[in-house]
Amino acid sequence: MSSLGPQVTHHECEVLVVGSGAGGATTAAVLAEAGHDVLIVEEGPWVEQGSVVPFSLDQMDQQYRSGGVTVALGLPSIAYTEGRCAGGGTEVNSGLYWRPPEATLELWRSKYRIRDFSSDDLLSICEEVEDALSVQKVPGEHTAASDILRRGADRLGWRNDEIPRWMTYPEGAGASEGRRQSMTRTYLPRAFAAGARILCDHRLDRLVRSGRRAMRAELTHIPTGSDGDSPALEQQVTISFRDVIVCGGAIQTPAILQRAGLRHRVGRTLAVHPTVKLAARFDSAVNTPDDVSVFQVKQFAPNISFGGSASHPGLVALALTDNWRDFGEAVTAWPELAIYYAAITSEGRGVVQAIPGVRDPLVTYRLTKRDRDLLGQGLARLAMVMLEAGAKEVYPAFKSAPVVRNRADLATMTSMFSALKASVMTVHLCSTAPMGDDERRCATDSHGLVHGTDNVFVNDAALLPEAPGVNPQASVMAIAIRNARRYCAERAG
Ligand SMILES: Cc1cc2nc3c(=O)[nH]c(=O)nc-3n(C[C@H](O)[C@H](O)[C@H](O)COP(=O)(O)OP(=O)(O)OC[C@H]3O[C@@H](n4cnc5c(N)ncnc54)[C@H](O)[C@@H]3O)c2cc1C
Repeated sequence: MSSLGPQVTHHECEVLVVGSGAGGATTAAVLAEAGHDVLIVEEGPWVEQGSVVPFSLDQMDQQYRSGGVTVALGLPSIAYTEGRCAGGGTEVNSGLYWRPPEATLELWRSKYRIRDFSSDDLLSICEEVEDALSVQKVPGEHTAASDILRRGADRLGWRNDEIPRWMTYPEGAGASEGRRQSMTRTYLPRAFAAGARILCDHRLDRLVRSGRRAMRAELTHIPTGSDGDSPALEQQVTISFRDVIVCGGAIQTPAILQRAGLRHRVGRTLAVHPTVKLAARFDSAVNTPDDVSVFQVKQFAPNISFGGSASHPGLVALALTDNWRDFGEAVTAWPELAIYYAAITSEGRGVVQAIPGVRDPLVTYRLTKRDRDLLGQGLARLAMVMLEAGAKEVYPAFKSAPVVRNRADLATMTSMFSALKASVMTVHLCSTAPMGDDERRCATDSHGLVHGTDNVFVNDAALLPEAPGVNPQASVMAIAIRNARRYCAERAG
């Protein structure tokens, strides 16, 4: 590190990794272990696991971008959330682990012309990831909120299963006492042990390019807690490097590339799993504020899946706000309420666009008619699961929704539903810099090198050519590890 005067600090490294989430942390570990000099820059703070209550509003404030208030404009708009901290989304997410479906990998390989993309290789990387993250099912009893999904689906004869998580459980611990094996506990320590460095609270503002090469990164050091509100405390930082690997997640990565003048197929194909929600009330306490259900219902997969959402009291209140006049009173009984979602695979696509002079990109998303219809079907079937599980009242999250107490109410709810009135949201964001040798469809080559450049790579959820139809973190990690290994093989010595 050197100082270029009172304001600007300068660093040098061989490989700059931007972002420390599922893609960035694995990339840094693989490269550092192969002997590369790696510097990670992470916009958010380092927050020790356990110092913030999981799934709480406090966590959203400290570890989410913009406190979790981010939206893709459209009809309807879709609220989305991104982790913004060391470890990225892996620190705040539900930890539900799904291997990428083999058929999806095969489809991506042929449709996007991805070279050396054998599903056998990727699934064997998944096995390594499962080991490294201690992926396992809950030992012992499930929480009441988990049992609700299983019970309701079983009574309807619908396929459901417990989804394993990246958690360790101390001896004798209960279902909600697991310790999340996020990146700050796994791949980041591995990267540091092999010599990688990290600069937290450092936001990459711009990559400066000369022709096909990125030459320098310009960053702002934002001291923890100021969140950009105290420009006087901010410091300018520059970094020079041989190669840069952008892993800022599917919303920030395309914005970073666009600001560097790299626009070919960048940010035009955002793919998400849109979800609609409901809160269900039972006769006894079912709410586990700091955990989510580990069951998912896959009877209508891949088109529609059901699962449990975070149900902290503040989030219960949020889930009731679409018809607060009729639902609001229920918030006082929050221990008897839990929140569930119906997620769909979406035909629609979104656009991420960096706007000059504005920090966050403009995000839009267009749901198709089929998507909107599926959301309605999903919510109706989810409400049916809740009634079968014994819910006495169901509160669907759309404007003017009725309280659902029985099948007749369910029919009324279905007739009143419109996706345009619903609180649609998503936490699975993919595909804004798709990988593959088909340049008409893809922003990078088959291993993440941005088309038209010699040293700018992407290695995060942006590379997934489409949303995988299952929780995506394992797909992101497996592809990132594959690409990082290829990088090491090509740039050895
Ligand atoms: C609430 C929630 C629940 C989820 N639940 C699950 C689940 O149960 N199972 C599952 O498989 N997936 C889940 N996901 C999705 C999963 O977390 C993501 O798919 C995964 O984290 C994506 O990895 P990534 O590396 O692309 O991005 P991220 O993990 O988001 O990491 C990107 C990092 O880059 C940093 N960054 C961005 N821009 C800059 C910049 N300009 N300068 C410096 N740093 C920057 C960000 O701060 C962030 O830390 C969930 C996500 C959320 C938000």
